[in-house]
Amino acid sequence: MSDATPVNASDQSAEHTQLTNPTLVLNCGSSSIKYALISEDKSTRITGLAENLGLDTARIKYTTLEGEKLEITIPGGRHELALKKILELLEQYQFVAVGHRVVHGGREYSKAVRVDEHVLSEVKRLKILAPLHNPANALGIEAVQAIYPDIPQVVVFDTAFHQTMPPVAYRYPIPSVLYEEEKIRRYGFHGTSHAYVSERASQITDTKGPHGWLTAHLGNGCSATAIYDGESLDTSMGLTPLEGLMMGTRSGDVDPGLHIHLKRLLGMSLEEIDKMLNSESGLLGISGLSNDLRTVEQAANEGHKDAQLAIEMFSYRVGKYLASLSCALPVFTGIIFTGGIGENSATTRARILDVMRHFGVKFSADKNKALVGGSEGSFQDDDSPVELWVIPTDEERQIAKETRQTLGL
Ligand code: ADP
Repeated sequence: MSDATPVNASDQSAEHTQLTNPTLVLNCGSSSIKYALISEDKSTRITGLAENLGLDTARIKYTTLEGEKLEITIPGGRHELALKKILELLEQYQFVAVGHRVVHGGREYSKAVRVDEHVLSEVKRLKILAPLHNPANALGIEAVQAIYPDIPQVVVFDTAFHQTMPPVAYRYPIPSVLYEEEKIRRYGFHGTSHAYVSERASQITDTKGPHGWLTAHLGNGCSATAIYDGESLDTSMGLTPLEGLMMGTRSGDVDPGLHIHLKRLLGMSLEEIDKMLNSESGLLGISGLSNDLRTVEQAANEGHKDAQLAIEMFSYRVGKYLASLSCALPVFTGIIFTGGIGENSATTRARILDVMRHFGVKFSADKNKALVGGSEGSFQDDDSPVELWVIPTDEERQIAKETRQTLGL
């Protein structure tokens, strides 16, 4: 592309690999689009990101097959323009299928499904359950349809993996009519990540199956899941991704009476309370500094009391949730940490495990410290009753895999 600017010429690699029969994985969010083009054998991929969509600073950052990092500015560009540009960039690789990450599949979808008119209208209809995400996801499907009507597309729902939860885990103790007529229940999210890391752990552990895993996906959004024999039995997120663990900017669990109390006390509207709980809480709300754990950890090390409390609360709440989710498992094989925090913060992992000390978990501090920066491995002691794994998540790979499986490729 003539309008592409090199970002860092030194990142060019002499190695020239092949992207054979690739699958395009698209993750269209409310203000960004991430993509990955993944070869049939999953050994090669190129990635890119369109960000700041709709703003003057809108741009696409991407890496070529040769490893060169480039950037195209698209001032004011929205989803449609960004997708058109992305598809132009990728046309040369002749992708054979497109897999979309779609946030909400409601009760209707328990696995990935090929896109047709009905599926597309369902993705749009389910915006009632994911107002920010499902409409952006639908835009991605339509953009590909308009340019490549013959390329098969698949949607992989974030909620689908959790459709195996039993009613005892997915119902709320509120009047049944709200479930029966309005689908008010727990759905769970991050399903692709929980599925990927638990499958991976089951492949590489020496323990004979069926396995019972607790997976802790700790990133900006955080959730934990109890998985037995490959099926989600309970998870921490609920009707929306606000339930459960404390996150970067989301509160996780609070007393449901908080809403009426804040309305009475401060005259806050439901919208204001929703914004506060989603965007101004969590690590950010307690530390008063940042939603980014690295910043909070640094301040805590320098003696910042609120940063220290934020980390203690975060770890305590994860440990408490994992302990309670263990009740869903017929056997408890181990705990898997993933996501930016789970994969990189050895101190947070140690704090979480300290909260769970009654489980008799034993681990090597050195092995724990070594598992950072994308490395995969276990760090329990030989006599620990529970295995401890760090498994870097790879949602794109899982979406590519499910896309191909759905299409029989
Ligand atoms: P997202 O949910 O947006 O995909 P990530 O999975 O990338 O987010 O996780 C982001 C979180 O991971 C941030 O809180 C960030 O501070 C944290 N993180 C990333 N690297 C490190 C690190 N080296 N040490 C501590 N925290 C880290």
